[in-house]
Amino acid sequence: MPGFLNAVTIAGGGLAGLALGIGLRRCGVEVTLHEAGVYPRHRVCGEFVSGVNDGVLQKLGVAPHFHDAARLSSARWFDARGPLASLKVGAMGISRRTLDDRLQRDFREAGGILHQNSRTAPGAGTVWAAGRVKTRGKWIGLKCHARGIEFPGDLEMHIGKNGYAGLARVGSGTVNICGLFRTQTAAGGKHALENHLRAGGLGHLADRIEAADIDPDSRCGVAGFDFGRQQCPEFSIGDAARMIPPFTGNGMSMALESAACALDPLLEFAAGKISWREAMATSDHLQNSLFRRRMVTAAVMQRVLTLMPGLVCSLTRAGCVPCGFLLQLVR
Ligand SMILES: Cc1cc2nc3c(=O)[nH]c(=O)nc-3n(C[C@H](O)[C@H](O)[C@H](O)COP(=O)(O)OP(=O)(O)OC[C@H]3O[C@@H](n4cnc5c(N)ncnc54)[C@H](O)[C@@H]3O)c2cc1C
Repeated sequence: MPGFLNAVTIAGGGLAGLALGIGLRRCGVEVTLHEAGVYPRHRVCGEFVSGVNDGVLQKLGVAPHFHDAARLSSARWFDARGPLASLKVGAMGISRRTLDDRLQRDFREAGGILHQNSRTAPGAGTVWAAGRVKTRGKWIGLKCHARGIEFPGDLEMHIGKNGYAGLARVGSGTVNICGLFRTQTAAGGKHALENHLRAGGLGHLADRIEAADIDPDSRCGVAGFDFGRQQCPEFSIGDAARMIPPFTGNGMSMALESAACALDPLLEFAAGKISWREAMATSDHLQNSLFRRRMVTAAVMQRVLTLMPGLVCSLTRAGCVPCGFLLQLVR
């Protein structure tokens, strides 16, 4: 194993930060990671991973953590009136509570230093993986885990008047239900998810949730964010750098891919072969090239989907929307 001159600090122990930390530790780099929260914890996320290839998972050394992920091969889209389209997909469903907890254990077992309940400041030697940047965004994300829910497929997407919601199998008989809604369209509180579904005309989905066995600890929500490039410190990965709209199911993949983009430049920095600024510029260039097309396409699609849901649903039902092709553009 080569000797390394420089250590790396990572701010944020979500998917991007932990995967990068593991990748660096596997090569012998000294890594300290600061995570503002504590593990294990649920996160607002649709929990279906789509787009990342095995090469990226192998490069980071995180592939074994997906061994028992649910294999999701079909997706069905609905609106309040019923089915719109069905698609073949190649995705994995996995609980973020489980996945992030596995990754943090792996990171520590590999010799990484993890500080929970801890924040650090940006600066040279620190990779920013602290997730979405707080803004006055107009979205709220809500999620819960359900058992015993009526759910015949692998993945369902439901389009409402105030946003959309997805259901995905995440293993062990559990289904994750997660929605993105415009803020101030429904009451909050314990049943905020069901309230927002009803306000968007998706009462039948709210009824299914109410008839199921919900894990009360899994209910969580997040607000105050927006999509696209984030205003973040210079060396950033994952949502801290750019946030793709959730209907794509590609955010977790991007978190992992961006960690893979940062890995080689950081190894060179750690070995003293390039400066911090050079490592940052290389990582940024790789991420821009990889993500530009999907970010632009997803932004347009999200805008049309949320501003004109009625039109999108009518065209999709009439078979006029090439759903499979459009989803490929955001991978
Ligand atoms: C409603 C919704 C649904 C989604 N559904 C899907 C989906 O189905 N599939 C998919 O692929 N993606 C989905 N995403 C996106 C996905 O959740 C993110 O892209 C992914 O979690 C990004 O990982 P990350 O590591 O960059 O950030 P995060 O997972 O957000 O991790 C960031 C971490 O940094 C910590 N932190 C914050 N500030 C600091 C600080 N100053 N110092 C130290 N630590 C800090 C936080 O506690 C957190 O643990 C969804 C997002 C939303 C909002």
